[in-house]
Amino acid sequence: LLFCRRLLTRSFLGLIFLFSLSTSALYFIYSAPGIVNEYVFMVQARGIQIRENVKNIGAQVLEQVVRGAYSVNGTDYSYDFNMSESDAPPTTYLPEDFTYLPSQVCPERMLSMKGRLEVNMSEVSLEEVERSFLEGEPSIATGGYWKPNDCLPRWKVAILVPFRNRHEHLPILLRHLVPVLQKQRLQFAFYLIEQGGTEPFNRAMLFNVGFKEAMKDIDWDCLIFHDVDHLMENDRNYYGCTDMPRHFAVKLDKYSYMLPYNEFFGGVSGMTVKQFKKINGFPNAFWGWGGEDDDLWNRVRYANYTVSRPRGDQGRYMSIPHHHRGEVQFLGRYSLLRHSKERQKVDGLNNLNYSPLVSRRPLYTNITVSLSRKLAPIADY
Ligand code: UDP
Ligand code: MN
Repeated sequence: LLFCRRLLTRSFLGLIFLFSLSTSALYFIYSAPGIVNEYVFMVQARGIQIRENVKNIGAQVLEQVVRGAYSVNGTDYSYDFNMSESDAPPTTYLPEDFTYLPSQVCPERMLSMKGRLEVNMSEVSLEEVERSFLEGEPSIATGGYWKPNDCLPRWKVAILVPFRNRHEHLPILLRHLVPVLQKQRLQFAFYLIEQGGTEPFNRAMLFNVGFKEAMKDIDWDCLIFHDVDHLMENDRNYYGCTDMPRHFAVKLDKYSYMLPYNEFFGGVSGMTVKQFKKINGFPNAFWGWGGEDDDLWNRVRYANYTVSRPRGDQGRYMSIPHHHRGEVQFLGRYSLLRHSKERQKVDGLNNLNYSPLVSRRPLYTNITVSLSRKLAPIADY
């Protein structure tokens, strides 16, 4: 208090300083728990990585020493120092010039899928990306529909992207992902589900809306739930479905390429339409940042599924750095998560109402929807 009075009498500048200090402090308290958790994890991850590096350097030094001891007259005796884990592909990739028939199902692994991808995060306008894909003889139809014509696609995949006010991210994602999906010989289209209105962001409910709208379009059999800011680093991370729900974004740059916790199901996940219906979709009750992906994990587990993940470095992603511009934390998530099982039956695809505004853009379908709590009433559980 003393500190305040002195500042106040000193100058007007002091007042402004005080004001900005208190608002940012308030903001911090308001949005603290999740951010602090994430920060703590990031620090821990860095720590683990530093220890790994030290271990590797240690191993190299040891190698020198042992080599020295084993060499006679400067000649090396063979000694296996290979400490890195091997990551050989489980089955062979078909050669690049492999010819298949238009009547055959597309292979899942082709040599054109080279593995490591360049990630380009430089800003670009949507119009420019549209132009680059649609010039010449465009193979992408309005709405972003594409399917291979040299084989039958193994999966019909709807890519659902929840969205609000991240316009600079979308063209970067499309520029990166469209060519990969074409290389993977999947039939696909993008659906951008944009939340209107002033309610806190509801990522999960947007996915439910996107699912229902997409199914009116085409009989999709596989769904990918994709954050707009996630860019895969490996094109062998195949966006088809498996007999179990799948978590794709296993290793994120912002988490030092480590899984934050085993039940982590965020960023990019996917499952078949059948699996999604069985778990009653995403919960609708998570308003603001956090928890909805953990609830989805619980739903998957309660339906007796396990979660599959791409192996090794195939699950690497970079995420476009961004701020949380005034987006709010969902502080009620912990108490909701305690009742995932009971809520699963009464909150999801089966209690959802909405009135969408649908329009087709060259590379995606835009579904704008205003969300509120009364659109997903939850019966007692
Ligand atoms: N999102 C959005 N606008 C928002 C908040 C979230 O478009 O205001 C979407 C976007 O697809 C984003 C995803 O929801 O990638 C997850 O949110 P966010 O990136 O804020 O989560 P975090 O990076 O903290 O995991
Ligand atoms: Mn993000």
